[in-house]
Amino acid sequence: MTKLLSGLCAAALVVGLAGAGGVAPAQDKKDTKKSAPGKGGGTIEVNESKDGKFRFTYRDQAVDVRLSVVPTIHGENVVMRLLRAGTQLGPIEGLGMPDVVARDYAQLVRRPHGMILVTGPTGSGKTTTLYTALAAINTPDRNIITIEDPVEIRLPMIRQVQVNHEIGLSFASTLRSVLRQDPDVVLVGEIRDQDTAKIAVQAALTGHLVFSTLHTNDAVGSIARLRDFGVPSFAVNNALLCVVAQRLVRRLCTSCCTPELDSSLFDSLPPHLRSGSFKAPQGCAICKSTGYKGRVGVYEMLRVTRRVQAAIESEENRDVIQRIAAEQGMQPMLMDGLLKASRGLTSLAETARLRPISDEEPSPSLAQPAPTDQPGRIAA
Ligand SMILES: [Zn+2]
Repeated sequence: MTKLLSGLCAAALVVGLAGAGGVAPAQDKKDTKKSAPGKGGGTIEVNESKDGKFRFTYRDQAVDVRLSVVPTIHGENVVMRLLRAGTQLGPIEGLGMPDVVARDYAQLVRRPHGMILVTGPTGSGKTTTLYTALAAINTPDRNIITIEDPVEIRLPMIRQVQVNHEIGLSFASTLRSVLRQDPDVVLVGEIRDQDTAKIAVQAALTGHLVFSTLHTNDAVGSIARLRDFGVPSFAVNNALLCVVAQRLVRRLCTSCCTPELDSSLFDSLPPHLRSGSFKAPQGCAICKSTGYKGRVGVYEMLRVTRRVQAAIESEENRDVIQRIAAEQGMQPMLMDGLLKASRGLTSLAETARLRPISDEEPSPSLAQPAPTDQPGRIAA
């Protein structure tokens, strides 16, 4: 890890940033919008936000780093996200989805047309989920084009387009151009405006398989978001195949975790989970005393079945759609988190982060029993 960090620091210096992990000293910035990097690790001072990426090799493996620089009153704040290079993407079954979700996702990404959405906040693993799907269907006979901001992971044989707002290359305008080339599969990095939403849905309705992301708290919330973007309900339910919502929670360090002894945490658990082997973080040299090492994804998937389609068509509200989805076996993200905690993969404290924070979007109570009609749904 030390070597990796020193590699990162060196890489950060290559792109001209002040020492990684620290904050560059504030200076008079009147004339320092961009000062040229000096030899021997000089700095670039910016007074506007900057994004970029670079790649370096660590233990013979390429590591892509996505870089964001934001000016603060103390200097530049630098955040670097480590991304796996495209060649390291595993199978869909390796994403850590519940078995049923992985099986459905693997089937749906092979459909000839329609729309597949992945939702979650920044840094929730959406890109990995989408690229794993692209890698699974990436064959020479498929014309796959991505439109991204920025291009995060490079994949062989896939045409990847970087949007550039400064020259008018937006998601919407690029998508229009790309569709003239009649691709089989299009990945739109993010739907964040009405134009992109409408063109993407139209593409999904006219013979293309469209992947994209939305910023919503959960899977069902994406229906309302598409409606907010002015996409008619009949188009949503005819285009949409499924919505995967996800988060990342910290994975317990297997070298030091101990049995969970805080019985108060068990009170709100569904009865069928209380006998699980819950673990708590401890801390050791391997996990740098944090008790956690790595992260694990938690997922829920809304599959747009005929009943869900009918509910969307008749403009039902989110509670009705949520109830129908639950009746058809959709397991809430929180439940997936609790199941992973019951297997000792993460802690109950970490799953608390999966609870909804908005009063408008309640999620099922922890004490709600799992659907009994489809027990396979909880076999995470
Ligand atoms: Zn540890």
